[in-house]
Amino acid sequence: MKATPGQQQVLLKINELENVLLRSKKALTELESGSALRELQDELRSSSELMLAAQARYENLEVDIARVLTDLELVDSRISRDLDRLSTSTVPKDIAGVQSELAALESRKSLLETSELELLETRDAAGFEVAESKKLRAELSDKISAIEASIAVELGKLQSTVSSLQEQLRITKASAPAELLEAYERKASRGVPIGRLDERDCGACRIALTSAVFSEVTGASADELPTCPNCEAFLVR
Ligand SMILES: [Zn+2]
Repeated sequence: MKATPGQQQVLLKINELENVLLRSKKALTELESGSALRELQDELRSSSELMLAAQARYENLEVDIARVLTDLELVDSRISRDLDRLSTSTVPKDIAGVQSELAALESRKSLLETSELELLETRDAAGFEVAESKKLRAELSDKISAIEASIAVELGKLQSTVSSLQEQLRITKASAPAELLEAYERKASRGVPIGRLDERDCGACRIALTSAVFSEVTGASADELPTCPNCEAFLVR
């Protein structure tokens, strides 16, 4: 194929622009998919679930504690009523009955107090868990907002990079002869369309040319654009 050295450089430029454009578009798609945020969003969701579960446990324990406190009040009032009866009664049989009831009440009170302590401890642990998961959620939300903001900036930059590359590509393509560009596009639709000769290697497929092909390629006139026999890419010397 005939192409002046200047036209050969234009094709190389087109290929370079197309590669950069492809990478930029890929990065754009990746950013738009929000995959950078997915892990954090999953973490946020599970920490919200943990927080709600701890919150529910905390509230149930509060109800249990209130119930124990009511029972304790009841026992206390019965104890003081019994103590009054004890101080006024003179009948030995009554005294014995009251004393035995008092003993039962004291043991009930002690059980209730133990259970109150245990419930308070468990409730405080649940409260701590609520506070911790709230803190984690706030941290995750902050991180997500920061990433979202930087993604928005990055997206804007990439979008303008992509449109400027598209414009450069359009202008560069317009400067290439139609026939040459057509041949280039045909090659591009099948694989890497063009490569520089790198010592004996084809820059497109990285396979070394045989000595015969190498001398043929290097011996061709400057406005001749040879083709790699392995990958059919244009070979620029
Ligand atoms: Zn090749």
